[in-house]
Amino acid sequence: MSAARPSRFAGTAAARGIRASFEFFPPKTAEMEQSLWEAIGRLAPLQPNFVSVTYGAGGSTRERTHATVKRILAETMLTPAAHLTCVAATRAEVDAVIAAYAQAGVRHIVALRGDPVGGVGARFSPHPGGYSNAADLVAGIKRQTDIEVSVSAYPEKHPDSPSVAADIDMLKAKVDAGATRAITQFFFENSLYFRYLDRVRASGVKIPIVPGILPVQNFKQARNFAARAGAAVPDWLAERFDGLEDDAATRKLIAAAVAAEQVLDLVDHGVTDFHFYTMNRADLVYAICHLLGLRPAREQGVELPLPAGERVLH
Ligand SMILES: Cc1cc2nc3c(=O)[nH]c(=O)nc-3n(C[C@H](O)[C@H](O)[C@H](O)COP(=O)(O)OP(=O)(O)OC[C@H]3O[C@@H](n4cnc5c(N)ncnc54)[C@H](O)[C@@H]3O)c2cc1C
Repeated sequence: MSAARPSRFAGTAAARGIRASFEFFPPKTAEMEQSLWEAIGRLAPLQPNFVSVTYGAGGSTRERTHATVKRILAETMLTPAAHLTCVAATRAEVDAVIAAYAQAGVRHIVALRGDPVGGVGARFSPHPGGYSNAADLVAGIKRQTDIEVSVSAYPEKHPDSPSVAADIDMLKAKVDAGATRAITQFFFENSLYFRYLDRVRASGVKIPIVPGILPVQNFKQARNFAARAGAAVPDWLAERFDGLEDDAATRKLIAAAVAAEQVLDLVDHGVTDFHFYTMNRADLVYAICHLLGLRPAREQGVELPLPAGERVLH
């Protein structure tokens, strides 16, 4: 008889040490705001480790990111993590954002270099008076406040980087500056993540390297994201969505199956923490979390992460 797969152990996610975090982007319109809050309302009872809110390219969403993070703090019991980049801002401007977050009660920042103002592929040059890279930003945050800092990691190499080794050197610099967690760019082949993890551990970096999972809500869009992020889209993945362009219901089932296969394989290899790129939509992520053993707080008889009466949860 073969050994039991850890992903098939019975019991709650908490008992198995499994934790999820969810990433959202700040909404641009009232309609998007509504769908974001519906997604937060649906996912909040799963009691994520934290929820993060991205920072638009070039700091273009500074106010919206801040407003979303503040609303999460004010209206939910979730722990928000605010993304922050070095792009197109002086140190003083970035420091003011950090101070405002600290004052508002934010205890976690995801610190990034950010993409160049010209977009992915354009050459990055630091703002003359700004933080020069993500490690510099982490150090700047830690100088000001004892906030928790997460950073990025790239199992398939950052597109600007000459090699995985250079990426890992940058990761080390970020850890030396005070980062205590890395969240990976999304990937579809788990073997790439495991190979990268081996190299990171061999380099002496010990912080958690949390896999970033992108449920494929829309294959065409995911392929575009992957091209910009330098993430490989395997042929088998394209084949799974092939011919389903006009069949949304089957596409959704396939997306759930693909993501389930990926996360359960990660669990079988000992992974306990997952970061989901939600694209501000809850359904797929909720289903995958259910598979992982995460259940709404109400079923476990504990306080809901949204104050009662504030919002409709389901
Ligand atoms: C989990 C996660 C969350 C993200 N959230 C956001 C967000 O909210 N907003 C946003 O705008 N972007 C976000 N990004 C994207 C990120 O900003 C870009 O990938 C950016 O290009 C690199 O920033 P970084 O901090 O990830 O890179 P770093 O860790 O600083 O660098 C990554 C690699 O690229 C190399 N590198 C960096 N700059 C150069 C250079 N000039 N020349 C040669 N090599 C270089 C480094 O040496 C390193 O190897 C996110 C990425 C991830 C994985």
